[in-house]
Amino acid sequence: MTRRNSSSDQLEEVTMGEPPRSRPRMLAKSLPIIVAFVLVAGLLAVVRVDRSPVASAAEPVCDAAVVMADRLDALGRNAYSWVIVPGILPGPAWGLTGYPTDRTVSISSEVPCEQMSSVVNHEWAHTQQIRKYSVPGRAVNAFGGLDEFEIAADCASLLLGSRLTPYLDRRKIATGQAGCSEIELLAARQLVGMH
Ligand SMILES: [Zn+2]
Repeated sequence: MTRRNSSSDQLEEVTMGEPPRSRPRMLAKSLPIIVAFVLVAGLLAVVRVDRSPVASAAEPVCDAAVVMADRLDALGRNAYSWVIVPGILPGPAWGLTGYPTDRTVSISSEVPCEQMSSVVNHEWAHTQQIRKYSVPGRAVNAFGGLDEFEIAADCASLLLGSRLTPYLDRRKIATGQAGCSEIELLAARQLVGMH
């Protein structure tokens, strides 16, 4: 509509002045083309609107529960029951190993789907740490405390392909140290490779 109005305005202006005679004719000829273009654009818009529900149905939608299950099929569940629970977990946390029971890993329903594999990797590393030292308390002590225990889980998570490593990020902000040290990587490799 806007295009058509402005075109007819142009046409009037040119006709009222003293332009070469061919110009009004040329503009008059171009007018149906502009209208046709607008119509085609309109048709394209309709086609796009009609097709969009089909297109979105065909696109893979990220399903956090499926991502978690796929990741665990690859890693193994380590005899834990892995559950997605509604809301944020105590802490606040996105994942908790040994909560609410010793052999449960709880993952928050608030974890964005694209972060799910990172969260599963991190919690899975905790199950490996606990497996290695039989009980959580002994595992935490063996790594040198809770901070080191979390860093070790993040380093293992990093080796497993995680893009989200919150404890490493936190340490980088606090100390300037980026990533994992060689010793931490050695320990992380051992955790990841432990069968
Ligand atoms: Zn952790």
